[in-house]
Amino acid sequence: MSKKEVDKCSFCGKTKQEVNLLVAGNSVFICDSCVEKAYTIVIEEKNERNPQFSLREVKLLKPAEIKLFLDQYVIGQEEAKKVLSVAVYNHYKRLTQKNTANPQDDVEIEKSNILLVGETGTGKTLLARTIARMLHVPFTIVDATVLTEAGYVGEDVESLLTRLLQAANYDVKAAERGIVFIDEIDKIARKGDNPSITRDVSGEGVQQGLLKLLEGSIVNVPPQGGRKHPEQKLIPIDTTNILFIAGGAFEGIERKIATRLNTKLVGYKAIDSTKQIDKENLIQYVAPQDLRSFGLIPEIVGRLPILTYLEALSSDVLRKILTEPKNSIIKQYVKLFKMDGVGLSFDEETLDYIVDKAVEFRLGARGLRSICEAIMVDAMFDSPSQNSRYLKITKEYAISKIETEKQHRLQVA
Ligand code: ADP
Repeated sequence: MSKKEVDKCSFCGKTKQEVNLLVAGNSVFICDSCVEKAYTIVIEEKNERNPQFSLREVKLLKPAEIKLFLDQYVIGQEEAKKVLSVAVYNHYKRLTQKNTANPQDDVEIEKSNILLVGETGTGKTLLARTIARMLHVPFTIVDATVLTEAGYVGEDVESLLTRLLQAANYDVKAAERGIVFIDEIDKIARKGDNPSITRDVSGEGVQQGLLKLLEGSIVNVPPQGGRKHPEQKLIPIDTTNILFIAGGAFEGIERKIATRLNTKLVGYKAIDSTKQIDKENLIQYVAPQDLRSFGLIPEIVGRLPILTYLEALSSDVLRKILTEPKNSIIKQYVKLFKMDGVGLSFDEETLDYIVDKAVEFRLGARGLRSICEAIMVDAMFDSPSQNSRYLKITKEYAISKIETEKQHRLQVA
């Protein structure tokens, strides 16, 4: 190429002066914007060929089949599993309806985001994660407590979609059918009845911000997230088909439920007065107005129309959680030892002991793992370098590992 010729992008023909950057190759040039376009094409091509999140791969299961799948991973929580199975079934029916849109058909099935109410460690995240696993769709968990209203310290609500986009390997189409689990939604409840005293940037402000995401709109998302890269190009994402599942403990909501039930305000789902109210388990009566009394704005409650609850875990359920799920904690240990050629077994009374300790320390299902870890750490350390081919964890062994200083660590956990 002669020196006199003006350097131009070999793709779009723009001159060096017209672009930000011109990269020179072997007698060719490419400008920055053509590099970006080419990169998008490469990613799209790759994702087309990558079946990880392909809609074609998804077989629409019936609600009963969805529940069977959930049963493999989540113990108990029958009501929540049933409600979720129907919601997910309808959500994907809605997606397929969109694909075969009939202009004559004006009945549009509305999006049904879901709200799960239940103590921490009862399986809310597990349920959402299991559904994403079943559907082969991108999935992300976001903690609502890190969000703040735009312009304040913290993360903007759009960051939720950044995470989803990352989970989808930047495949925008896959992200647009993904699932977002918003954890601790109760922590963004309105802080008081008088918002004028101080601006409620992490409560009501965030709820307002979330509205547009939940209802379905085009949101411009910073692909790297955060505000550290102001130069990044925003990616428009349509949230219409993203399923939002929100979860929260809503500590103290039983009081609101009790008040409502006592005042006999006829609720959303009036309870048959001939039936005795189960006072021990008020959470089962949770209704949208309780969430409003708790401090969620009515618009948010309206956009999370499917409301269900998770029960507190009894020791029977905890016992099952140890061994029954497809990837239960005990099955995981057995597998770990098997990889070293060591057969591992737990006495029944050892398992009962683990459950008793989880209840005693008030650690719930999350505690099961920390207790098992405390019992197993020495064995996992020694076993690979020993010759023994078989290991049986007796109750005495478990006690000897727990009733030491480890107990204090577990209690503060
Ligand atoms: P939450 O989101 O309600 O705080 P998680 O879903 O994170 O609770 O539960 C914590 C852990 O406890 C899970 O990873 C799982 O191992 C176990 N767990 C909780 N509830 C159940 C359940 N119903 N069935 C099986 N495992 C459970």
